[in-house]
Amino acid sequence: MSAPTLVVENGVLVTMDGDRLVRGWLGIAGDRIVALAEGAAPPAPGARRVDARGGYVRPGFVSAHQHSMDALLPGSAARARAFPDWLFGVHYAEVLGHGPERAAEAARRTAAGLLRAGVTTVVGCWGVGDAGSARSRECLAATVEVARASGLRWVLAPITGDRLPAAWAADLARIAAADARVRPDGLTTSTDTALAFTAHAMEADGEGVTVWPCAELPEMASDGLLRGLASLAEHSGGWVTTHLSASPDGARGAVDRVLGANPAGRVLGAHLTHAEPAELARLARAGAGAAHCPSSTMLGGGSTSALGRVREAGLPVGLGLDNGSLNGTADMVLEMRHALMFDRVAGTTGRRVDAETVLRMATCEGAVAIGRPDLGVLRVGAAADVVVVDTSGEHWRPRTDPAAAMVFQERAGDVTDVVVGGRVLMSAREPVPAQ
Ligand SMILES: [Zn+2]
Repeated sequence: MSAPTLVVENGVLVTMDGDRLVRGWLGIAGDRIVALAEGAAPPAPGARRVDARGGYVRPGFVSAHQHSMDALLPGSAARARAFPDWLFGVHYAEVLGHGPERAAEAARRTAAGLLRAGVTTVVGCWGVGDAGSARSRECLAATVEVARASGLRWVLAPITGDRLPAAWAADLARIAAADARVRPDGLTTSTDTALAFTAHAMEADGEGVTVWPCAELPEMASDGLLRGLASLAEHSGGWVTTHLSASPDGARGAVDRVLGANPAGRVLGAHLTHAEPAELARLARAGAGAAHCPSSTMLGGGSTSALGRVREAGLPVGLGLDNGSLNGTADMVLEMRHALMFDRVAGTTGRRVDAETVLRMATCEGAVAIGRPDLGVLRVGAAADVVVVDTSGEHWRPRTDPAAAMVFQERAGDVTDVVVGGRVLMSAREPVPAQ
C-alpha cells in the first residue's frame, strides 16, 4: 500500500460498497483510495488531514446526463409550459446566441453548482447549435478550458444532428417566426460536418475532460451519422450518448438503430421514457446504461416515470440533473427525492424505488451506467472522489437509516469538503483555487 498523502477521518463512511457503513477513516494516495478502516486514523507523516467531525463521508455524486450551456437561465421553465416552447423558445434561443464568454460563464456557473452539491462527475451533452462553425469551436474551447480548470470529472458530449424530426416542423416554424434568435438551420449540419466537429472535439480528450460522441436524438441522426459517431467512440475507447426514446414519435425504431450502430452496447441513453420493455432488455443485454432525469421530465410535462421499467429490464440507471434552465439548482439531493416521488406518482410497473436505490443511482449505479464502476463507491482501489457532509444541523435530528437521511434530510449547503481524484477542490465550504 502506498502511504496516504490525504486522510479523511472521524466520519461515518457511507461507502456504497454493498451496504457497508464504516465509522472511521480513509486514506488517499495519488488519485485512488488506498486505505479504509474503522476507528481512529493512524499517524500519516506529512499527510493532509480532513476532519469529518462525525459527519457522513460519501462518494462524489454522478450526474449521468446534463446540459451546461443554458445554465444562465435558471427558472426559465416557469415561463414555457409546453416542451417545444422551452426547447426552442428558451434553450435554443439562448444557446444559438452564445459566444465564448457566455459559454464559459455558463460552464463556470455549472461547475460551481456541481461542486457545492458534491457532484464530482458530470456527463454534459454540450451544444450551442451551428456545430462545426467558428462560433461553436470557440465556445467549445472556452467550455473545455473551464471544465478542465474546475477539477471535476467532466464528460463533454458535443451534440450533433443531420436532420430535423418531422414532428418538430410546425412548432419550430411557429416559434422561429415569433423570435428571430431561433434559427432552425442552426440545429443541424451535414453528416460530414457533424462527424468532423465531433472528431475535432475529441482532440480535447484527456486531463480531466473526456469527450464522447453524441447525437442529440436518434431521430435527428441518419444511420450514416450514428455509425460514424460509433466508430469515433470505438476508436477512442469512449461511449456514445443520446436522448433515447424520449417521445412516443421518436421512440419508433430508435433503440434498434442505436444498437445497430453500437453492437457492443457502449451507449448511455438519456430518458428512455417511451422505450418498450423488449427494447430495454436488448439495451441491458448489450451492456448499455440509462440516465433518468426526474426533475426535467416533470417540468417538461412528462406524466410517466420509466424508472421501474428500466430497472426491471436490468439496465443500470444514473440520475441526471439535465438542463440548467429547467433545473437550475444542481441539487442531487433534490433530484434523488424527485426520483422517488415521481416514481411513486407516475411509475408504470409494480416496482418502486426506495431511498437506498435512489442513493445508489446517484453514486455507484450511476457510475456503472456511464461505464465507470471505479466511481461512486468508497473502497480501496476506487477513484478518490470523496465528499464530506456536515450532519451537525438541526435538520439532521433524529436520524436512523443513513440512506433515508441522505435523501430526506441532507441540504445542499451541508457539503463541506470535496475531493476529486485525490485533489481537494473544496475545504470547509470554500472552493480551493487550482494549484
Ligand atoms: Zn438532455
